[in-house]
Amino acid sequence: MTHPAPDPELALAYLDGRIDDGPLLVEAARLRDEGKGRIVTYSRKVFVPLTTLCRDRCTYCTFAKPPGAGGMYLEPEEVLGVVKAGAERDCTEALFTLGDRPEDRWPQAREFLAAHGHGTTLSYVEAMSRLVMEETPLFPHANPGVMTREEMAALRPSNPSMGLMLENVSPRLMEKGMPHFECPDKDPAIRLQVIDHAGELRVPFTTGILVGIGETNQEIIESLFAIDERQRRRGCVQEVIVQNFRAKADTPMRRHAEPLPAWFARVVAVARWLLGPEMNLQVPPNLTEHFEIYLSAGINDWGGVSPLTIDWVNPEQPWPHLEELAARTRAAGHELVPRLPVYPEFIDSTWLAPSVLAKARRATDSDGYALAGRALPSSR
Ligand code: SF4
Repeated sequence: MTHPAPDPELALAYLDGRIDDGPLLVEAARLRDEGKGRIVTYSRKVFVPLTTLCRDRCTYCTFAKPPGAGGMYLEPEEVLGVVKAGAERDCTEALFTLGDRPEDRWPQAREFLAAHGHGTTLSYVEAMSRLVMEETPLFPHANPGVMTREEMAALRPSNPSMGLMLENVSPRLMEKGMPHFECPDKDPAIRLQVIDHAGELRVPFTTGILVGIGETNQEIIESLFAIDERQRRRGCVQEVIVQNFRAKADTPMRRHAEPLPAWFARVVAVARWLLGPEMNLQVPPNLTEHFEIYLSAGINDWGGVSPLTIDWVNPEQPWPHLEELAARTRAAGHELVPRLPVYPEFIDSTWLAPSVLAKARRATDSDGYALAGRALPSSR
């Protein structure tokens, strides 16, 4: 990435609302058009919640559940069942999302893993990724929480891309009373190290920020700079998700204010401005009704959208109908195009293991976009 580094003081002034955001939004859209043209992508996915057990205690989370209250692992047959159903709906991504290292906290997790021949959840993720890679047309995208370098290396032959949200670079969010208190896997230094490992291992990597969980505007800017710094050094960041916090009932943060769309659009535009024209920038479309605002603020991707499975992390927020997403994206002057979980610019022998690359080439056109799922209407 060779784009000039923007001025952090000016970025902060935009987020603080001390200056008019008109020029920022114009520049963000211009940068997106310069780097991405009119194409806006999405990934047709099925959500595979491999385990809803977790050792962490994030105060905004409804995904993680204790044993006896919904915390469980999926059996291999259940994984294959949902992934094969996704294949029938032209999905190309099997998103493995799960809690962090539940075996460190829950005996039930250790028992499940031992009964299935695994010592760790990451070992089970590797086995299930391989199963999906070998027995279905879909591509795994592991989003398994913090991974060691060795665990990531083991996943690479079956995962064309992987992900871990940075969320925020501030360790302050781990203090008592803050959302990441008693969450060892939310240590930003550890999460930045995971991105570094992705660079070393040549893993196309998805990361991003979670906005509205008690961070300051300054900490948002610092988080984006931390991601940009990795990208300049490692080149492995294939996309950055800018995710708005949504308050969920039955969580300690249920009364915490959610970001307002106009301000959140500033965050998105600042992200585009800081990260430059080449970065793939995503806002999850099921967490907002304001598609047009974020297209104007410089995004070029809607992320994973499932025609089949719910968003297990935000089960109260249904995916938009793909027909509506396509129509509103088109009305805003863009073309909605399906992609694999790995972005076109990473589909080469530098970034993908040979067998993954061969399968990715068979599943994509000459520009690297997914062949499956082109014929809308085809969602639900
Ligand atoms: S947000 Fe992730 S790490 Fe935090 S409790 Fe939920 S599943 Fe665990």
